[in-house]
Amino acid sequence: MNLDQTVAKQNLDKNHSPNLKFKNVDYGDCKWTKGFWADKFKLCEEVMVPYMGEVLCGDIGHALNNFKIAAGEKQGEHKGMFWHDGDFYKFMEAKTYVYGQTKNPNLLEELDEYIGIISRAQEKDGYLQTQIQLRSEVDRYENRKYHEMYNTGHLLISACVHYRITGQRNFLDIAIKHADLLHTIFMPDTKHYGRFGFNQTQIMGLVELYRTLGDRKYLDLAEKFINNRGKYKVEHHSTTEGYPIGDMVQERTPLRESNEAVGHAVLALYFYAGAADVYAETGEKALIDALDRLWENVTNKKMYVTGAVGQTHYGASANRDMIEEGFLDAYMMPNMTAYNETCANLCNAMFSYRMLGIHGESKYADIMELVLYNSALSGISVAGKEYFYANPLRMLHNTRDYKAHENVTETPDREPYLSCFCCPPNLVRTIATVSDWAYSLSEDGISVNLYGSNSLDTKLTDGSPFKISQDTEYPWKGLVKITVEECRKSAIEICLRIPVWVENATLLLNGQDIGIPIISGSYAKIARVWKKGDIITLDMPMTARLVEGHPRIEEVRNQVAVKRGPIVYCIETPDLPPDNSILDVYLNGDSELQVSYHPDFLGGICTLETEVLLRVDKGEGMYRASGRPKFEPYKTRLIPYFAWSNRGQAEMTVFIPIIWNTDSISSKP
Ligand SMILES: [Zn+2]
Repeated sequence: MNLDQTVAKQNLDKNHSPNLKFKNVDYGDCKWTKGFWADKFKLCEEVMVPYMGEVLCGDIGHALNNFKIAAGEKQGEHKGMFWHDGDFYKFMEAKTYVYGQTKNPNLLEELDEYIGIISRAQEKDGYLQTQIQLRSEVDRYENRKYHEMYNTGHLLISACVHYRITGQRNFLDIAIKHADLLHTIFMPDTKHYGRFGFNQTQIMGLVELYRTLGDRKYLDLAEKFINNRGKYKVEHHSTTEGYPIGDMVQERTPLRESNEAVGHAVLALYFYAGAADVYAETGEKALIDALDRLWENVTNKKMYVTGAVGQTHYGASANRDMIEEGFLDAYMMPNMTAYNETCANLCNAMFSYRMLGIHGESKYADIMELVLYNSALSGISVAGKEYFYANPLRMLHNTRDYKAHENVTETPDREPYLSCFCCPPNLVRTIATVSDWAYSLSEDGISVNLYGSNSLDTKLTDGSPFKISQDTEYPWKGLVKITVEECRKSAIEICLRIPVWVENATLLLNGQDIGIPIISGSYAKIARVWKKGDIITLDMPMTARLVEGHPRIEEVRNQVAVKRGPIVYCIETPDLPPDNSILDVYLNGDSELQVSYHPDFLGGICTLETEVLLRVDKGEGMYRASGRPKFEPYKTRLIPYFAWSNRGQAEMTVFIPIIWNTDSISSKP
């Protein structure tokens, strides 16, 4: 088949997935105009992407060097993790999104330069994995720990995004050649390759390629990778040596029979996200039933209050499989040793974004938002050049376990380069594309998923032009004003997400209450004929709230987190008197939490001022005699969790023990 014919124009609108209630708006249709996300995008454009380019294209990151060496254009050896190619593709994806928003021709030129090098590094038959090409220790597809599937997935995704945004074929052609090779190797039923695939990013990539080209074979291959998982006996053989097997890679239980999220959190959530993409095309009930169960299990049993996932660096599953960087049992939620890899948190949002498309229910966008404002943004500094890989909910100095890994993934401060570089480009590409998540197209109109000042210029599913603008100071204030700029003459539905934390919101149309029910955790729907200049005003009061964990979470008994709107707060040692540990801090339940906005502090944030109690009597030893403790009150502030660790080395905690005046908690009259 002629490829130019298969790349049919109608596929470019991404709207042909038959089992989606909410469809994506096209890249770049929504643009942030001011406020929180506009600032983040600007930083992404001006600092995050250029800085990351310097690192990855230079000798420290060595990612572009790997391709140059494979292309025969440079001397040297492969450096970086086995998944370094994939991380470079994610960086390219970020740069492509920025190009889509800004149309800066320099970005396109730089991308073309990378693509030229990558195409010359690609072997004649389509193979492209510098970690194998440049190392003699292993052959192609010999051992899954070399992450070939991961690199493949990011190659396909990045190339499809590049094609959709630029209309250029150069990157896409590399991806097609590569995917065609994959098809010849993995489509036939071979036991040898049945369990191959460590990090299942290729499933998302293959579905994206199917959507872009309309060629069913890529979807079939994506489905094959799902079907194979759990089909074969779990035992070590030549392709699996080097990492734990079984639940670690979600291969003990077939996905369609799974009830519990297990194993490596990034692997699991990329697998689920890929399966959700397959469901969007096939509509297979067993698949979505399993994904529904897994989503509930992750978000109701294994997720932190910040939306983070992956409770441990090392642990075991209920099937006694060794696992790394992943899920523990339900409600087992350590704060200090939580792993919470930035990638895993992002994957949680990506999985939820896909489930939002499938079900059109706001609970999925609640999770996307929770992750974005908390456990995603915590992965990068306010300046945009330093990264966290692990995102624990409490940091103490000199007492942390896992010292052997400190320099790789679990660092006390954000680092300007991480030798395991998967998280930084994953986060930066997400920041660059959050605007594409803000709205979805539904059959009858449009849904507003995320709030932030922006303008949307898109086409509804019937092809008619639709324009609105959104004006808000969210997430610091809950007032949102949406103005209709252009809409077809017949009625459409505008659905506004009422976040699950909202109480007492009001919704007005042109200043009038029109009696639309507002239920938190759902979409408020306004269906009518719209005219230019119509204004929707949604006001979601934001009060700081205390949040406690399920009583079965032992690690947070008698402690609370503080949340205001979508933002989770923490307390950090720079806001305590010198020589105080974060462990000395208790929250005074009877002290008010006063909101104040600081435009020039930590990138512009709302802090919560309050009086905490500092414990002054300190015992010794693992267990101590206990009596009535002594406290000193201290006026201080809480800051958003995502903004911690920007003021030098600090201790931090999200959950804080709370003291209530016993008079105020008595149930007696
Ligand atoms: Zn990562």
